[in-house]
Amino acid sequence: MSAAASSPSSSSMTKRLEGKVALVTGGASGIGETIVRLFKNHGAKVCIADIQDEAGQKLRDALGGGDDVMFVHCDVTVEEDVSAAVDAVAQRFGALDVMVNNAGITGSKVTDIRNVDFAEVRKVFDINVHGVFMGMKHAARVMIPRKRGSIVSLASVASVIGGMGPHAYAASKHAVAGLTKSVAGELGRHGVRVNCVSPYAVPTALSMPHLPKGARADDAVKDFLAFAGGAANLKGVDLMPEDVAEAVLYLASDEAKYVSALNLVVDGGFTSVNHDMKQFED
Ligand code: NAD
Repeated sequence: MSAAASSPSSSSMTKRLEGKVALVTGGASGIGETIVRLFKNHGAKVCIADIQDEAGQKLRDALGGGDDVMFVHCDVTVEEDVSAAVDAVAQRFGALDVMVNNAGITGSKVTDIRNVDFAEVRKVFDINVHGVFMGMKHAARVMIPRKRGSIVSLASVASVIGGMGPHAYAASKHAVAGLTKSVAGELGRHGVRVNCVSPYAVPTALSMPHLPKGARADDAVKDFLAFAGGAANLKGVDLMPEDVAEAVLYLASDEAKYVSALNLVVDGGFTSVNHDMKQFED
């Protein structure tokens, strides 16, 4: 096989979302920003929907703005915002083919259930669960009449196992995985696919503050990757936002035309292998 054929960039030479229109919640920064950039590179018209107006508008302008990229202020906890964002995209670009429910928070770092503050739990559920629910609802509203569409939500390895974050975060991500199956069950007959992606630890503003103090030196990303890599199953590679975006791209594209109700776990095997029995070590 030639170097070009085996290089990861070879796939990016094909525009896998040509002619498609996508909306990415939480698209102004972090994994969402990376998804926006990758989708744009693959020929999609993209709407960045976020509460960070300045960052969203800056990203829109950096990507050429105008015809192919738009920004809408959208708080996913406010149904009118989500509904209006979907309508704005359909009006501006003529359709909505791909809805990415990416906006999410971890909430408080408290993991001692005796100290959990319920206002915090509600906030996490409002964004991570109700926000995704509303994204699915309003995407379905415009996708059902067209008999096609792909809805992709960001869950987490915390949707599969416990001990990967605060209780409310774990519960919220299990809910995203459950909601994905439930809504896929309903929308299949309308030709609309519904999936989620569950990454292991990725260095972003969401995850890096959770790095234990003892693991911090001076380079936040490097320290985070060293810590996450130490606990990972797959060694020798780092999980980066681009890797998550590639998984979302796959589910968004027609290459996944028969894939629905899947929780695509991007964790290098972390949630599937036994970490305690070291039978493969010398
Ligand atoms: P991030 O904090 O870097 O970015 C989140 C984005 O969502 C920001 O642009 C923020 O402004 C936006 N946002 C927050 N609240 C919002 C709201 N109410 N309405 C609209 N937008 C809002 O986070 P990230 O690491 O990029 O995470 C993206 C998704 O991936 C989340 O759902 C997260 O749970 C999931 N995830 C992240 C990791 C990780 O290690 N970073 C791992 C697994 C899953």
